Amino acid sequence: MGIYALTGGATGIGAAIKSQLRDAGHKVIVVDLVEGDVCADLSELAGRQKAIDGIRALAPNGLDGFIPCAGLGPSVRPFSLITKVNYFAAVTVTEGLLDLLVKRKGSVVMISSNSAAMVGHDDYVELLLADKEAQACEFVDGKDGHTAYAGSKHALSCWLRRNAPDYARQGVRINAVAPGIINTPLSDKVLADKDLGQVMKDFGDSVPMGSIGKPEQIADVVCFILSSKASFMAGSIVFVDGGHDAMLRPDQF
Ligand code: NAD
Repeated sequence: MGIYALTGGATGIGAAIKSQLRDAGHKVIVVDLVEGDVCADLSELAGRQKAIDGIRALAPNGLDGFIPCAGLGPSVRPFSLITKVNYFAAVTVTEGLLDLLVKRKGSVVMISSNSAAMVGHDDYVELLLADKEAQACEFVDGKDGHTAYAGSKHALSCWLRRNAPDYARQGVRINAVAPGIINTPLSDKVLADKDLGQVMKDFGDSVPMGSIGKPEQIADVVCFILSSKASFMAGSIVFVDGGHDAMLRPDQF
């Protein structure tokens, strides 16, 4: 059986991925704020290093997979926390585990979002991709939650596409799922937000398949991509959103 590491495994999509991998008999190392095998605050540099060191200590012989799932939604303040966790933590911890993934020809599944396609390649995204964390945080704190969130996922998707070929040459497949609106504590907080709640509710009501998704529906696809059944997939970003992205951007793929 395999050994996997996962950030953000305490609730929501991460908890569903953790359960499915463990039910299949795999060992799963969870990094989260409080309920983890490694407890670390990924918004901080020291927390990211603690996560890397903790996973390395628990998986010295390598990893079959890594899922940087921890994330914050657009209702979180300050907006720069979204930038730190959704982009910089996901990228930094992935890079810090690369040699462990190479050892076992592992697979990375990042958690993007269908909102990544709703923003362009703007100055914020450029700051993220240029690894300018302090400047990106300062920039985004003057914006809004949607810009912070969607931009973080747009940049994460670009980072993946830029790095997937090099990772593939080293035997590591790196892909992403881009969920639509999923019923989790994150989306509950957005629905309860006085500024974003109604927009989010209308967005949920417009999903072509007629309802918002469940965490297990995302975990099913993540576990497929991690498995040998997806052995030729690399650099792919898979929308799992009940048809929402196709509805919004029919001629782009
Ligand atoms: P969630 O709030 O249920 O889970 C997020 C997890 O990340 C929690 O376990 C939380 O403790 C952890 N986390 C948050 N900040 C952290 C920090 N600083 N350090 C360590 N851990 C931290 O939310 P979710 O909806 O399951 O989100 C999981 C991922 O899915 C996120 O990356 C999110 O952006 C993405 N996503 C969610 C939706 C949705 O509608 N729910 C849609 C698209 C993408």
